[in-house]
Amino acid sequence: MSHATLTDPQDIASQLTEALSLQKTAFANAKAPTAQERIERLNRLHNALLDYEPRLLDAVDADFSGRAHAETQLLEILPVLEGIAYNKKRVKSWMKQSRRHAPLMLFGSKTKVHYQPLGVVGIVVPWNFPIFLGLSPLVGALTAGNRAMIKTSEFAPRTGEIVKEMIEATFSPDEVAVFTGGVEVASEFTKLPFDHLVFTGSTQVGKIVMRAASENLTPVTLELGGKSPAIIHDSFPVDEAAKRIAFGKGLNAGQVCVSPDYVLVPRAKLGAFTKAFKAAMEDLYPSLESNADYTAIITERQRDRLQDNLNDAIAKGAQVTEINPKAEGFDGTRKMAMHILTDVTDDMRVMQEEIFGPILPVLPYDTLDEAIAYVNARPRPLALYYFDWDAARADQILQDTHSGGVCINDVMTHVAVDDMPFGGVGPSGMGHYHGKEGFLNFSKAKGVVRKGRLNPSSFIQAPWGNRFYNMYMTFQYRRYRKIQ
Ligand code: NAD
Repeated sequence: MSHATLTDPQDIASQLTEALSLQKTAFANAKAPTAQERIERLNRLHNALLDYEPRLLDAVDADFSGRAHAETQLLEILPVLEGIAYNKKRVKSWMKQSRRHAPLMLFGSKTKVHYQPLGVVGIVVPWNFPIFLGLSPLVGALTAGNRAMIKTSEFAPRTGEIVKEMIEATFSPDEVAVFTGGVEVASEFTKLPFDHLVFTGSTQVGKIVMRAASENLTPVTLELGGKSPAIIHDSFPVDEAAKRIAFGKGLNAGQVCVSPDYVLVPRAKLGAFTKAFKAAMEDLYPSLESNADYTAIITERQRDRLQDNLNDAIAKGAQVTEINPKAEGFDGTRKMAMHILTDVTDDMRVMQEEIFGPILPVLPYDTLDEAIAYVNARPRPLALYYFDWDAARADQILQDTHSGGVCINDVMTHVAVDDMPFGGVGPSGMGHYHGKEGFLNFSKAKGVVRKGRLNPSSFIQAPWGNRFYNMYMTFQYRRYRKIQ
């Protein structure tokens, strides 16, 4: 069978079901791919990515109506290549059965955990990193020996088409298949009885997806968003913090799930921070409109949403500093300058919703406890950034707050570490992937007891009260006496 293209909306559900059943059958016929087979699939993906790279870079640039090839290489292509290399090196050792301790009753038995591929993994992709967020979960799924179906984002359609073409040229449809299309495809896709479903997107749609998956009891990994705060300690140089935050916030013009959403600054340093942040942004992006380094907003709708939220804040009393060094007008483009907001209040939409664009509220705090309390009074974020050279104080912040991940004295770079799990907590998501946690996420950890000829538990069975049972229980209860 060839790869399917969803053209007739009537047929979406049946075509998706057919594609899944093809993969499930293929999996059933080859349930235990060896490490070498998994590496061979990863090698194919590695080479395909390099072959298709120029077209992928152009497609992302076109979808955004302006995104630098360098940014796509740094944030999408390279991380997938690194993830593949990291996993290839370790897959054999991850696949090894892990020996576990057996209880007394199973004396003489072997107890081990086997890591078994789940089957077919569904992957739903958002628009902001339309290559990485499809292929990075795929790397985890393939490393764990699964097959996969990917649904690309309708808001990055050109990239979706190239990813589809690349995968179709690289894998058979029973190994990996890609589906493009809008919400109607996404909705049917997430209703499929996958063995695991990875959804990356908004918290709002995440709830719909989890509801759909629950019908099949399909386990989900939800990679969602939220408002990731940055807190700057009074002792930390604000210029340095501003530079590090500007680098992260400038990437993809703030359209990143782990972008710093707002900054908490000691009250006396508020002016110094906004000045330093503006200067740092101007150094990075001395002009905007025709500067290929500064990414445009993905759609008109997203730009309108950002502009509306900005207007809402201004109408409710926020002070705005636009960072637009050449005072450009952006006519006929989807570019939007970075805006710093001060005097923000909780009734403004910028403080209620994830910003996901070039707007940065900066809030003053009087004591560190107050800053922590502010963060803890809100939904648990995907990331938290804390700027302080004092390691003990930073450790205290780690204990006092919950977030998916943390950078101390930096922003966003934790995503690039393959040797750490990535994922949110509570409203910012559930489950982890990347590296070993990705392998575990896409594997069934199956506990296996292997009994030999000796069967000690045959002595400990009904009729209860027999001699061995009494001896065994006396011994055990002596071991588990009340703790003094
Ligand atoms: P979105 O939730 O609007 O869409 C994501 C995907 O869900 C798309 O493929 C879309 O087709 C599909 N979808 C839409 N409606 C659906 C429905 N009713 N049923 C099933 N699927 C549906 O998100 P977006 O605007 O593409 O991306 C932005 C969001 O993603 C932000 O909140 C951001 O924080 C989050 N995000 C999270 C991560 C992460 O790793 N945690 C990474 C990138 C983006």
